[in-house]
Amino acid sequence: MNEAEIQRQKEIKEAEELLFTGPQALGFAKGLFLGRFVSDWAMPYPRIPAAQQADLDKSLVEIRQFLDQELDPTAIDRAADIPRNVIEGLARTGVLGMTAPKEYGGRGFSQRAYCKILEEIGARCASTSVFTNAHHSIGIRALLLFGTREQKQRWLPPLVNGQQLAAFALTEEEAGSDAANVQTTATPSADGSHFILNGEKRYITNASIAQVLTVMARTPVPGSDKTSITAFLVTPDMAGFTMLEPRMEKLGIKGTATGRFAMRDMAVPKENVLGPIGKGLKVALTVLDFGRTTFGACCTGAARTCLQLAVAHANKRRQFKKTLADFDLVKKKIGRMAADLYAMEAMTAVTASLIDRGLEDYMMETAMLKVFTTERLWDAVNDAFQIYGGSAYFTDLPLERMLRDARINQIGEGSNEVLTSFIALVGMRGPGMEFKEIYDTMFNPSRGLGKAWTAGMNRLGAAVKVPNVPVKSESLRAHAAQLGRLIWRFNLSVNRALIKYREPVMDMQLIQERIAGVAMEMFASACVLSRLDADLQGVGQNGASAPGSRRSAELFLRQSFHRMRRFLSELSDNDDAELLATANSVLGKQPAIGTRNGN
Ligand SMILES: Cc1cc2nc3c(=O)[nH]c(=O)nc-3n(C[C@H](O)[C@H](O)[C@H](O)COP(=O)(O)OP(=O)(O)OC[C@H]3O[C@@H](n4cnc5c(N)ncnc54)[C@H](O)[C@@H]3O)c2cc1C
Repeated sequence: MNEAEIQRQKEIKEAEELLFTGPQALGFAKGLFLGRFVSDWAMPYPRIPAAQQADLDKSLVEIRQFLDQELDPTAIDRAADIPRNVIEGLARTGVLGMTAPKEYGGRGFSQRAYCKILEEIGARCASTSVFTNAHHSIGIRALLLFGTREQKQRWLPPLVNGQQLAAFALTEEEAGSDAANVQTTATPSADGSHFILNGEKRYITNASIAQVLTVMARTPVPGSDKTSITAFLVTPDMAGFTMLEPRMEKLGIKGTATGRFAMRDMAVPKENVLGPIGKGLKVALTVLDFGRTTFGACCTGAARTCLQLAVAHANKRRQFKKTLADFDLVKKKIGRMAADLYAMEAMTAVTASLIDRGLEDYMMETAMLKVFTTERLWDAVNDAFQIYGGSAYFTDLPLERMLRDARINQIGEGSNEVLTSFIALVGMRGPGMEFKEIYDTMFNPSRGLGKAWTAGMNRLGAAVKVPNVPVKSESLRAHAAQLGRLIWRFNLSVNRALIKYREPVMDMQLIQERIAGVAMEMFASACVLSRLDADLQGVGQNGASAPGSRRSAELFLRQSFHRMRRFLSELSDNDDAELLATANSVLGKQPAIGTRNGN
């Protein structure tokens, strides 16, 4: 085995350990890759129970009032700081502990309801929504999910009521996208009473204003020379904690304090270990599931603002003796923004409900939501910017700030490239394992035919059956049938790619991008169908009466189906070989031996 192969085997082992421990229920995304429509993950459209809806409505009134009166996103951007009165207002209105259980002072809101609150904040000020996310969605999340009762009792109340703030510190110089490559060490003391932490963290939101930080560090694996990651609760008053840069100057979300800090021989009591020792990566990725879901909500809110701004300007600004709204190239942008917005909201609601239902493994769905909503928001900001023309460029309008603010979304909490590849690879694992079973048996018949037979029948079954996409509304049957046929075609394409490329497909990111692209569109379309079905049946919440709502949904489905077909046909009809050859020559790289292209 060469070095690259050894590294790859190591990565596979790590990923398997992380993602595939124990038997897994078949979720929506994994089902797509097997040609199935796991309908109960997306349908019926999740409703907020009436009692909770009343609490949510009350909170929304209170929060909107506070935001209208006290939140000034322009001032926050210019001062590069979120003022204390805003943080206090967020605490007063319960935002900083909204999903924490009531026994610790939280409001006990579901993730679905909390997303509606974050949508509201994201619509106004990205600095404030990212600050809130860093504190609540990821900062206190490991404590909420993995803390012992004693830890929760001790740490949560001041964090939930906003007396203290939280941060989540994973990223370091060598551990960005490669989150497993954390170099910070945590060495157990001789008497076992504490761990000694050494290392540096960078790009950490809230680091310099937080009183409690969840820090990931490497601990020894007993009885071996290996190490693995463990989560620790750290406070900045611990001896050895040094803030190197409290507010790194940056492009957007300027109000957030993004910091860099060091830990030098810093003693952390063993009582501060969060979750099982050595399982910190699992803790981190589970925490990020929540972060990515609220990312979706914040992006949805911001996209709504873009649409509102674009509509207002297009109706008002006149050129060539017409309003901009009279030009088809402007309408094209507005129609697409409305369609995408409908989908972003539906996808956020469905994904949040997966968390609320306590389902087992929704990492693929949260990754899909994050990639989809962050890309669509970027398009929406860009389109709104274009509709405003030169005026968007100036600081008296919010769009230049929104453009700067939106750029972080495609990078933070897992860059979109890494997540796209992850979606394709994890998705293909299911059918890939079935094929492996068939291959292995073909070349070693003494293994017995039983498992291979089952795997073969599964592959064959998916190949001949178009899955049913159940909708109640007669008028949606044709769309549902189209989605079913596309899932069937997708499954065939995935099978074909696995048979054609076999293991090298794990390195073929251009193929992965298309496969993940179809899967994301399918998830989005299923959520849109689910929401529109509920709207048409008169059981939808928030949005059934929005102008153009049905049209937006139907346009989304049409455009999404087109995009799926394009991705599928480009799996075999593409310029991948030429593209990679050009990039290699510009990069001064020899093509790797065995490099495959997408043809
Ligand atoms: C404003 C801000 C706030 C942040 N807040 C936090 C926080 O609170 N806590 C925290 O822990 N971290 C935080 N981060 C860090 C953030 O999560 C990382 O920046 C992100 O994970 C990417 O890591 P990196 O910057 O090291 O980029 P790199 O890992 O160097 O990646 C650079 C680019 O390379 C590409 N790339 C990398 N790997 C692959 C691959 N396998 N395949 C294809 N392309 C690839 C991607 O396009 C990626 O964007 C924050 C960052 C910023 C900018």
